[in-house]
Amino acid sequence: MAALGGRAAVPLLRRGPGAVLGAVQGAGQRRHRHKEKWATTAPRIPSTRLALHHFDSSYSLHLGELWPSVRAGLLCEQKYGALLNNFSELDHVTQELELLNATDFISEALQKAQQSQQGTAAREAGRGSQEGRTVIQAEAMTETSPPFRASISPKIKCYTFPRGDITRFHPARPDTLGLLGYYLMDAASLLPVLALDVQRDDLVLDLCAAPGGKTLALLQTGLCVSGGHLAANDVSISRTKRLHQILHNYVLKEVRETVSVTSYDGRDWQDVEGGTFHKVLVDVPCTTDRHSAMEEHNNIFHKMRTKERQMLPMLQLQLLMAGILATKPGGDVVYSTCSLSPLQNECVVERAVEIAETQFNISVRVEDLSHFRTLFQDTFSFFSGCRLGELVLPHLTANFGPMYFCKLHRM
Ligand code: SAM
Repeated sequence: MAALGGRAAVPLLRRGPGAVLGAVQGAGQRRHRHKEKWATTAPRIPSTRLALHHFDSSYSLHLGELWPSVRAGLLCEQKYGALLNNFSELDHVTQELELLNATDFISEALQKAQQSQQGTAAREAGRGSQEGRTVIQAEAMTETSPPFRASISPKIKCYTFPRGDITRFHPARPDTLGLLGYYLMDAASLLPVLALDVQRDDLVLDLCAAPGGKTLALLQTGLCVSGGHLAANDVSISRTKRLHQILHNYVLKEVRETVSVTSYDGRDWQDVEGGTFHKVLVDVPCTTDRHSAMEEHNNIFHKMRTKERQMLPMLQLQLLMAGILATKPGGDVVYSTCSLSPLQNECVVERAVEIAETQFNISVRVEDLSHFRTLFQDTFSFFSGCRLGELVLPHLTANFGPMYFCKLHRM
C-alpha cells in the first residue's frame, strides 16, 4: 500500500496532510483563474460517476461476486435505525415503534443468543449429569460463554424494521422537557460503539465525534455519565456545533455538562492528553462510500479533492495512531469507517499495529469480533472475507452500512 509505505514517526506523519491540504487549496485558487475556459472546454463528469467508476474497479476485485449486490444496495435508499433516547420519556415512544412492527435489534439478538446457549448448555448438562455434573454448572457455562463476556450494553436500544421491510420512521417528537425520543441513524453505526464495550468509571474519548451519533450512543450506556467521563472531539468547528445541537436536543443539561466537547486536530491529541483513556473511538473521515455514490454535494470524488482523497489513508493512520497513544495500557481502541475500501480499513489497522510496535514500543493486539457476526446476522449482512475486524455490507434486504470496525487492545 503505497500511501502508507513510509516508515515515518508521528511528527513526520503529522506534516503530510497539512501540506496536502495547503496544496489542494492552492490548486483550487489556481483553477479558479481558468474557470471560464474549463467550463467551455471540459464538461464536468459528476463526482458520483467518478466514485462509481472507482468502486467498480476496486471493489469488484475485493468483494468479487458480492459486488453487484452491494453496488445495488449503495444506490438504493438506505435503511435507518431509531436509537432510543434513554434521557427522554420513553413510554409512548417504544409502544409506537412496536406498533409499527419495529424491534430493538440489540436485545433481540442477545435474547436469541442466550436461548441458543441455554439450549446448548442444557444438552451439555444432560450429557454431564450422566457423568455426575448438574444443571447449575450448565447455567454457569451460559453466563461465561464468549458472546456474554463481550458485554454488549443492554442499555443501548435501537429499533429497526425486519429484513426486506423498507418502512421509514417518522421524525422523532419532543417530550415535555423538549427532548427527542429517538435519533435516526444507520443502525450499523452502533456496532463500533458496542464493540468499545464501555464499563463503569471508564474515561472515554471519541476522537472524531461530530455530528455526534456515536457520542449520543455512548451516552445511552449511562456509564460515561456517572463516575466516568466522556471527551468528544472533532476538528471541524461547524460540525462540532451540530454535535452541541444533538446534545441539546437529546441529553439533559446535567448530563450534557459532563461531556467535554473540543475542536482539536485529533492528530495532536498526544500533546493534549496521552495515555489517559480506557476506551477510545476513532471514527475517521473516509470516502463515505454511500454518500459518494449518491450525492454530488460535498463529494470527496470531486476532481478538485483528488489529493485529499488520496491522502485519506495517511490521515486515518495518523488519527488511529493518536487514538492508540491516547489509550492507557490495558485499554481499547475501536477504529471505524463507513467505507468498503481495504486500503482505508484493514491496511490502516495493520500499519498502525506495526508503527506502534516499531516506533513506540507499544504492543497492540487486534481483537476477534466474529461473535458480532453471529449475534447480529439477522439484522446486517456481514462480509466474511475481512482479514481484521468486521465489515457490514449494504444489501437490498438490509440496506445498512458500509461500516467497518476493528478493536485494538493496548497491551
Ligand atoms: N463519529 C461521528 C458520528 O458518529 O456522528 C462521525 C465522524 S465522521 C465519520 C469523521 C469526522 O472526522 C468528521 O466530523 C470530521 O470533521 C472529523 N475529522 C477530520 N479530520 C479530523 C482531525 N484531523 N481531527 C479530528 N477530527 C477530524
